[in-house]
Amino acid sequence: MSDKSHNQNGFKFATKAIHAAQGPEEITGAVTYPIFQTSTFAYLEPGKHKGYDYSRTANPTRKVLEENLAALENGKFGFAFASGMAAITTLMLLLKKGDHVISTHNLYGGTYRLFENVMKKFGLDFTFVDTSEIGNVTGALRDSTKMIFVETPTNPMLNLTDIKAISEISKKQNIMHVVDNTFMSPYFQRPLELGADITLHSTTKYLNGHADVIGGAAVVNDENLAERIGFLQNAAGGVPSPFDCWLILRSVKTLAVRMRQHEENALAIANFLENRKEVEKVYYPGLPAHPHYELAKKQMSGFGGMLSAELGAFEKAKKFAANLRVFILAESLGGVESLLCHPVSMTHAVVPKDERLEFGMTDGLVRFSVGIEDIDDLLEDIGQALDNM
Ligand SMILES: *Cc1c(COP(=O)(O)O)cnc(C)c1O
Repeated sequence: MSDKSHNQNGFKFATKAIHAAQGPEEITGAVTYPIFQTSTFAYLEPGKHKGYDYSRTANPTRKVLEENLAALENGKFGFAFASGMAAITTLMLLLKKGDHVISTHNLYGGTYRLFENVMKKFGLDFTFVDTSEIGNVTGALRDSTKMIFVETPTNPMLNLTDIKAISEISKKQNIMHVVDNTFMSPYFQRPLELGADITLHSTTKYLNGHADVIGGAAVVNDENLAERIGFLQNAAGGVPSPFDCWLILRSVKTLAVRMRQHEENALAIANFLENRKEVEKVYYPGLPAHPHYELAKKQMSGFGGMLSAELGAFEKAKKFAANLRVFILAESLGGVESLLCHPVSMTHAVVPKDERLEFGMTDGLVRFSVGIEDIDDLLEDIGQALDNM
């Protein structure tokens, strides 16, 4: 596949999304790369095969997805996983007992749970700080610090961390710098270009974008690091099925147009919410009032489709959610359909109350994953839900 695939160098994002690593298949000329739904591959003779032996180790459909995602992140090596959490778990296996990790303090709830309730048992140490203040990161450094794990923007507060500034620290100290890029997708943000060592995704979200697959991915530039992750991907075995890889490949072809529409709709909703008296505060990095608006303009090429709003009380959030007709009350994000989430009772239920209140995650906070429906219908829906709250 590699020699016949289109050479994507020099192509722009939307072209790469459709063509990178995806030249017509060698045997039949199929324009859409096939699903190689097989667990094992025939050897030509003992010790000799055509590049594939067993699908946990490598699979042609997965390989095309991995190369495509690597191209979109402007990286060299991609790895696909069965979920975002499988990707993160595999990255944790790069560490060993006694190693220390500095991480963003309002992380995706599942990542926080993995670090706190699982990885700590294996002797890893975690410090959670507000990474949007670089001083907090340098202040938390120890001799044993081996990884800085950053989520930007954060979920659900939409706080940003300066990826370039963190990568300067991590390079100086020889620390691995990981960025969870799920919220922006490579269309709006490419952490490797800003100096990060690993960019990571829950492909469940924008990359797949149709709320029908659970998946994860990691992309790196360093060959040595790629070798270690490839080894762990095979050793731990958290790999996706060929069919799921194919679905994500299919979805990624429309990533550019979807992301543009997600953003256009989100910006319109953020502006609408800012002018409603029922809403105490709007969190969206595309609003000039957002504390990290300047950084957003610098390190991202757009503001994305996620925003949060403070409605003041749990009862109000509950009423608002019940009133919505187009927005669906559900976890997850990044799909074509608009979703509403109440983080405190849903995605972030595992985060202790005193911790979440520290960064503003109150009982009245709601999070919008803005879809690509007609904006008139979305605004009408939110308007009537606020009117009747
Ligand atoms: C969903 C999500 C994850 C976890 O991914 P799964 O595919 O659900 O395992 C990790 N990080 C972020 C930011 C997410 O939104």
